[in-house]
Amino acid sequence: MTSFRDIPIRQKLIVVTLVTAGAALLLAGTGNVLVDSFLFRGYLRRDLTVLVRVIADHSTAALSFNDPAAATESLAALKERSHVSAACLYRSAGQGKVASRSGANLFAQYSASRSFTCPGTLDGTSQTGRVDELSLIQPVLLNGRQIGTIVLFYDLGEVNERIRLYGSTIAGVFLLALILAFLLSNRLRAVISTSITHLVRATTSVAQTGDYTVRAEKFSGDELGVLVDRFNEMLNGIQIRDEGLKKALREVDAERARFHFLAESMPQKIFTTTPAGEVDYLNPQWMEFSGMTFAQMKAWGWTQSVHPEDLEGNIREWKRALQTGEPFHFQQRFRRADGAYRWHLSRAHAMRDAAGNITMWIGSNTDIHEQKEKEEELRRANEDLRQFAYSASHDLQEPIRNVAVYSEIIARRYDHALDQNGRQFLEFLREGGHRLARLVDDLLAYTRASMAELSEHAVDAKSAMNSSLAVLAKPIEEAAAVVTADELPVVYMGDLHLQQVFQNLIGNAVKYRSGEPPRIHISARQMGAMWCFSVRDNGIGIDPQYKEKIFGVFKRLSYDRTSSGTGIGLAICQRVVERYGGRIWVESEPGEGATFHFTVPRRAEPALAATAESSGG
Ligand code: ADP
Repeated sequence: MTSFRDIPIRQKLIVVTLVTAGAALLLAGTGNVLVDSFLFRGYLRRDLTVLVRVIADHSTAALSFNDPAAATESLAALKERSHVSAACLYRSAGQGKVASRSGANLFAQYSASRSFTCPGTLDGTSQTGRVDELSLIQPVLLNGRQIGTIVLFYDLGEVNERIRLYGSTIAGVFLLALILAFLLSNRLRAVISTSITHLVRATTSVAQTGDYTVRAEKFSGDELGVLVDRFNEMLNGIQIRDEGLKKALREVDAERARFHFLAESMPQKIFTTTPAGEVDYLNPQWMEFSGMTFAQMKAWGWTQSVHPEDLEGNIREWKRALQTGEPFHFQQRFRRADGAYRWHLSRAHAMRDAAGNITMWIGSNTDIHEQKEKEEELRRANEDLRQFAYSASHDLQEPIRNVAVYSEIIARRYDHALDQNGRQFLEFLREGGHRLARLVDDLLAYTRASMAELSEHAVDAKSAMNSSLAVLAKPIEEAAAVVTADELPVVYMGDLHLQQVFQNLIGNAVKYRSGEPPRIHISARQMGAMWCFSVRDNGIGIDPQYKEKIFGVFKRLSYDRTSSGTGIGLAICQRVVERYGGRIWVESEPGEGATFHFTVPRRAEPALAATAESSGG
């Protein structure tokens, strides 16, 4: 059964109105009846008292003259008063001033109905009393002496009649009032319920259709009107936001369509993943290449197409990227539909929202198979060349040394047998032999720098520097050079490699001095994961336009006034430093001295050899 709470508001309004009106009327009517019956009883009592006194006065003569007929006639006048049911007149028996009740006999009587007869004595009147009857007793006095008593019985039916009349009137009024209240409330409820009904209709329509252009109609300026206004304002706000959202969604769709178009028109295999790294988009090139379906490739399914040797490294790198949010770079082999593996360069970058949270990863796989094969060919050719250079310079050492040695011997032993030209030619030969020997030594050093094993052990840079200074002791002394150094760190590279670099740089700083005695300073500072060493001098300096060129093999500058160089020293330095993953560069101005900087790793890296090897390729 529907409870009052659940019935529609318009029905509630009617019920509330009717109950309120009914209760008010009922209360007013009942009060009215109660008050009236109370007042009427008082009035009746006063009226009857007067009446009974008048009868008592009229009965005095009849009692005195003992004339019951006159008394009966006098009482008969009471028939004019309806509701007086009976009147009994008793004659006192005693002669005293105050007559007693006992002994008073019935003298005359009046009765409205035949069924009633007055009791014979006055005492008997007390037994006749009825609930719906009022009895009044009045002494009949003559000269202050009671000669009789009159008892009047009044039927209270009038009071009940009156209550009945009032009751039915009130019931009638109550009914009419309810009908009127119903009609009025039925009409007036529209003022309230229409607004609410429209509001409900509007909300239902919005909820069902999702159409926020709907508006509720306003019927009044009261609270309901305010409610409708606020509701419409709210809808307006939602509508604006909804349109904005739809527009943004359209833009996202368009953006996605553009992205897909772009991804599908590229030769690379494009993919996107969730922030957790699960593939959720692959361009068709992927499926075409692998011969797998998207369902097989999605999430982590693509790992099936990775070469087993590359898989572990790939997963490790990919998980590192996912954890750190740093870009993913990896070279790996993917299996083609025909089963052949092809090298790819895989890259992925994280896309972030305004708050910096990763929303997705976008990545590409570029086929670098041909490039990779060429690199391998080049690496092999380089290796062969290096081997050749090494063997050639190694094998050339002895004949060249022989040229130098024997030209020395000829100069010493056969000097007297040579004329001026012969001596000059011999000098050219000797000098050429020395230069050739230096060149071959440097070439050998260069090929050794390229071939020697990389070391991952800690080496004290200070001791490596001191070893270099010991080798360079003679030229330093001759040039009266002053070499100073800061505290130098421990680095992870080969002892001899570091010594070689210091030796070349300090040697050059002495060699390419200006007019002043050389002042050379060596320092080191941290630069991210690297140590950056600097060798500063006050020498002739280098024109900035040559600051790249001087690191090439056999590259010497034309204004170089010394003849002792071969143009290989800086190439060796660059070769060594780059093999350890560092770099070397110079800052200088002509006449201002030069500062050579080179970086080496601060920590031993597991992949050091591989990195250095590939960067040297
Ligand atoms: P080499 O010293 O045998 O000529 P390097 O490769 O060591 O060959 O140097 C290449 C060239 O760079 C040198 O010929 C010289 O002109 C220039 N150079 C190197 N170091 C300095 C320096 N400290 N000051 C000025 N010029 C320098």
